[in-house]
Amino acid sequence: MLNVLLTRLRQGHRTASYPKSEPILPDRFRGLLQIDANKCLTLRNPQKQNDCVKCATICPTNAIRVIAEQGPQIDLGKCIFCGDCVHACPTQAVTHSSIYPMSTRQRSDLNISHNKTLALAKPLAHELRRIFKRSLHLRQVSAGGCNACESDINVLSTLTFDLGRFGIKMVASPRHADGLIITGPVTENMKLALEKTYAAVANPKIVIAVGACAISGGLFAGHTQTHNGIDNLLPVDLYIPGCPPHPYTILDGLLRLLGRLPKQ
Ligand code: SF4
Ligand code: SF4
Repeated sequence: MLNVLLTRLRQGHRTASYPKSEPILPDRFRGLLQIDANKCLTLRNPQKQNDCVKCATICPTNAIRVIAEQGPQIDLGKCIFCGDCVHACPTQAVTHSSIYPMSTRQRSDLNISHNKTLALAKPLAHELRRIFKRSLHLRQVSAGGCNACESDINVLSTLTFDLGRFGIKMVASPRHADGLIITGPVTENMKLALEKTYAAVANPKIVIAVGACAISGGLFAGHTQTHNGIDNLLPVDLYIPGCPPHPYTILDGLLRLLGRLPKQ
């Protein structure tokens, strides 16, 4: 027992120092996609009109369109960060960066191109921020998710991320919640449960969409048994893209929404 206590003392404080310092991400982390206009064949030679659309053709979720003279347009709300466009591009014009903050307040802000960057989420309006800034309880609803987004939300409660130090907590009952954090494309079987859970949360309340499925349907978009995400069903306050989003992408989005990042 003494050895265990000594070991724990030697281990010291294990919670990440984020957001005071930047997180350490793995080398293989696939962050925000970037487009280099100087390398893109379509942008370098617009007269040839969509001569190269390899990135768009290979994308499994139709997240990229290539428009003559404007080049590739990427919808991060549909992107599953598979990296296929990066590998398909003959000139390495599309690359994954290590940028992990990607959350937005508006769905349209997730559309990026070589000259349109991501408009990162602004904090909630003053009154909502006053209520939720130091205490936000969320009910997680998996509306047909594969459990990857759910796992990355769960991991935020471990000691590395320690979500509780920000006053954010996942709760079991919507009656105890200030909002919903939703994953999955909203399957037909989960639609009623989601709507009832939303109705059970007292006003004022917020809704957070986590992952490509919840934002756009992801890989399941267009299927007869899904509703292509929550956008058509509930008012969304925060979109967190990814498949699944990295825990730091989720945490960054939550803190951005609450206006709790040091540089905000
Ligand atoms: S595959 Fe590469 S070169 Fe071709 S349009 Fe896409 S980004 Fe441009
Ligand atoms: S990384 Fe995103 S945009 Fe690129 S092919 Fe995969 S889903 Fe499409």
